[in-house]
Amino acid sequence: MIQAYVGLGSNLNDPVQQVQVALAALSDLPETRCVRHSSLYRSAPLGQADQPDYINAVAMLDTRLSARQLLTELQAMERIHGRVRGAERWGPRTLDLDILLYGDMQLESEELTVPHPRLAERSFVLYPLCEIAPDLEIPGLGSVQQLMAACRARDTLSCEVLA
Ligand code: ATP
Ligand code: MG
Ligand code: MG
Repeated sequence: MIQAYVGLGSNLNDPVQQVQVALAALSDLPETRCVRHSSLYRSAPLGQADQPDYINAVAMLDTRLSARQLLTELQAMERIHGRVRGAERWGPRTLDLDILLYGDMQLESEELTVPHPRLAERSFVLYPLCEIAPDLEIPGLGSVQQLMAACRARDTLSCEVLA
């Protein structure tokens, strides 16, 4: 059994509901259980500024799927949620499901990189991650607390917990 963390994001078609439905659906993945998940957060968009704010959350999973199997399952879920991959990188989407961490695995390939390569610079990942796993060590990067402090000290995009 491996502990994996998944980052969720949506900014189209009722994003709060998209994220809530996806959080519930994570426990329906084969050989996988959602142990806990964060609150929902609202964050300013990355990339194109002329798109709606995002709703983000992070889920902690126990899974027997391999990292690649998990990625395949998450991509299938994105498609079920009507995600269309546009030409624009970081453009608006109904649902984005990224593997943030897969146990202590460190892997860099075209298809899959873990820890997620842009995790340390994203408040919308670090805040919810810290909420559910404040003592987490990110392989190769340090503690989630340190990363969050460094991220906060920089001029980053806004991110706040939903009331
Ligand atoms: P970002 O990766 O900056 O968050 P994104 O989530 O919008 O951007 P996607 O369009 O969802 O990017 O995915 C692009 C590709 O990233 C996918 O085809 C997938 O194979 C690859 N990828 C690499 N590492 C990961 C990971 N840890 N989790 C999810 N996808 C990954
Ligand atoms: Mg992403
Ligand atoms: Mg993605």
